[in-house]
Amino acid sequence: MFRPFQLSAALLLGSITALGVEDRPNVLFIMSDDHTTQAIGAYGSRLAALNPTPTIDSLAREGMLFENAYCTNSICTPSRACILTGQYDHINGVYDLGGRIEPRRQYLALEMGKAGYQTVMIGKWHLKEEPGAFDYYCVLPGQGRYFDPVFRVQGKEPWPKNTIQFKGMHSSDAITDLTLAWLKEKRDPNRPFFLMHHYKAPHDFFKYAPRYETYLADVQIPEPANLWEQPHFGSIATRGTEDELLPYIGTSIGRRNPRRNYAKHYKVGKELGDEAAKRAAYNIYLKHYLRCVKGVDDNLARLFAYLDETGLMDKTVIIYTGDQGFMLGEHDYMDKRWMYEESQRMPFLIRYPKTIQAGSRSDAIVENVDYGPTMLDFAGIKTPTVMQGRSFRTICETGREPQDWKQEAYYRYWMHMAHHDNPAHVGIRTKQFKLIFYYGCNYKGQNRTPPGWELYDVKKDPREVVNLYDDPNHADVVVQLKDRLAKLRRRIGDTGEDYPEVEAIIQEFWNDDAADRARAAEISRAYLRSKEKGGRR
Ligand code: CA
Repeated sequence: MFRPFQLSAALLLGSITALGVEDRPNVLFIMSDDHTTQAIGAYGSRLAALNPTPTIDSLAREGMLFENAYCTNSICTPSRACILTGQYDHINGVYDLGGRIEPRRQYLALEMGKAGYQTVMIGKWHLKEEPGAFDYYCVLPGQGRYFDPVFRVQGKEPWPKNTIQFKGMHSSDAITDLTLAWLKEKRDPNRPFFLMHHYKAPHDFFKYAPRYETYLADVQIPEPANLWEQPHFGSIATRGTEDELLPYIGTSIGRRNPRRNYAKHYKVGKELGDEAAKRAAYNIYLKHYLRCVKGVDDNLARLFAYLDETGLMDKTVIIYTGDQGFMLGEHDYMDKRWMYEESQRMPFLIRYPKTIQAGSRSDAIVENVDYGPTMLDFAGIKTPTVMQGRSFRTICETGREPQDWKQEAYYRYWMHMAHHDNPAHVGIRTKQFKLIFYYGCNYKGQNRTPPGWELYDVKKDPREVVNLYDDPNHADVVVQLKDRLAKLRRRIGDTGEDYPEVEAIIQEFWNDDAADRARAAEISRAYLRSKEKGGRR
């Protein structure tokens, strides 16, 4: 006898949980700290010839590589908060390194747990609060140490006293051992797992395991052309009206920024001229960095070998990313924080042979707020309404963007002139253009640097060396992008309400008319005077 109620109930249930327990993949989310696309072979940069990441490259060969994956605020804690909450930082409240996400807001782990996943967090965490939404954790306190690392481990002792130490070990080796130990000893074979495996490397100051001392020792590291002169790069915000702020904006490889640069940090010989000193500092910097990267890659070979042996490799959605990009001497910059491509862009590789085609690539724009929804989708879980991001699982599986998929990435660096002398900025990145607005003030609208705008045609000028903002041929593009940026800010709720002094400055300098420019020049002169007097940073 036909019973319509039962049939429709069964259909409804089927649509909610399309995947049976046995079909649900494990999800392994691997993230390194500050590992940028230029230092991953599969991204084909100038460093690819050095073959820095053969293991990580295998994920691209056997899965999909995203060319346009972006963080929304290029610094550790805020990016991690975006991934865990699926929210932009003005919503999750993690504007800078002081932010925290308490267990009740660790949405990604909570949702996975509710759906029956074993949830695990191992390695660098950097969100201050206990990772209490996870079934098991073993995390570095704060930045953590490279050698003899201490971890806080879920167990009998309460957070934050629950520490153990790995004497005589490098953090990348210890983190891999911890993940392997969890897989071997604590994994429930009857449930799928969601495991976040996070390296501290290659964060500064790039302390590598002693076995890498000779790696690349005799190699001259290829330089980016924009390590040197770039007369059309930047704006009043990064250079001043007549380059007078070059020594003060953005820490450098060579001696440009006297306060903080790698020639000074690595004690490059004072007898060397500026050009030779910059070249020497660049080589030391890159070798330290790439030795840390090599340690990550070798450890992943160990982890993947175990997954292969146990048959887990093909039953697991494996993602590799960094928490943001990193400047490896491009524009003579170190560190991240900038909206320039090398810093804004994240590596994003995903492997799941059951549904993702080997060797595929996508130029779809995806943001770190979309990672959580995507992982949940692979696990058969709907995106909770609290998340702003959206799943791009169908892009992974078909290579095609849904009709209404986003065509722009949002960016906002909230900190101002902290650590690496980067002014605060906001911007929009489309597939062809990038518009950056340096509004240049702290949360109270103080310590001002000159407001300025930059426009790059990233299709024609992927190295971003020609600022087209004042080019008459791009006047229409500027108007359109400003309008899109304003709408995007409203759509994602970055209304500036929490920081009215900052928002007032953004609005004041938005149209960038002659009066604004005169005022920006005054601010530049005033900033220079404050620096020359040795004023407060
Ligand atoms: Ca980082």
